[in-house]
Amino acid sequence: MRETARNHRRRTGVAVVGALVLTGALTGACRSEPRPAAGGDTHPAAQSTRAGNGSPAPPPTGMFDEAGFQEDMRAAETTIDDFWRRHWDGLFTGSYRSPRVAGLYDGRDPRSAPPCGDERLKRDNAAYCPPGDYVAWDAHLMRSGYARGDAWVYLVIAHEWGHAVQARLRRGLVSPAAELQADCLAGAALYGSSADGTLEFEDGDERELVDAFQFIGDRAPWTKPGDHGSAAQRLRNFSRGGENGVRACFT
Ligand SMILES: [Zn+2]
Repeated sequence: MRETARNHRRRTGVAVVGALVLTGALTGACRSEPRPAAGGDTHPAAQSTRAGNGSPAPPPTGMFDEAGFQEDMRAAETTIDDFWRRHWDGLFTGSYRSPRVAGLYDGRDPRSAPPCGDERLKRDNAAYCPPGDYVAWDAHLMRSGYARGDAWVYLVIAHEWGHAVQARLRRGLVSPAAELQADCLAGAALYGSSADGTLEFEDGDERELVDAFQFIGDRAPWTKPGDHGSAAQRLRNFSRGGENGVRACFT
């Protein structure tokens, strides 16, 4: 994906085609709220469904487009934030406030991971942190996913932004299946930005999105709050928002 000239300057890079098959323990899990003391919202099922034995392979040297990666993250943050700012008044009461973007952190160094409540963000994860009202993503998670295609960062960032949107709504509007609703909001924001002319889908983006959901879906379908749902459920909800817009995420 890329920002269009109408939104900001057009970037010249092209999507990084998935040159790498990830085989490791990348979870793509996110959490929407601070974890309770036990249990909570990491998603080992996402790991155990993957073949492989440990950490994802690093992107091959020389193939990773770091400048493009940084630019896509900036573009995703800007485009998604703009979408919600532009449409908020037509959808919800109150006014929109951007969450803070804490951005990349190194989850492999627990001391450097941002605190959220009384714990720190986890390795290979992405999060919206309600107490801090910020969004953040593990650098390894983002770079590993980006090596398969740039749509990854748009999806992860749009999903976490979906949680920030949920946090701005009255409780009754937030689905018990909050993770699936965040996927729906992500689809609504990305396809809505495309419809608004601020984001342009490139060849391969939709395939990358499908692949991303295959990768981050839970092994089991959604049954309780905190579950992300199966790949099929997640993709279905993302598509619902993408095809029918934000309101479809609240029906
Ligand atoms: Zn989530």
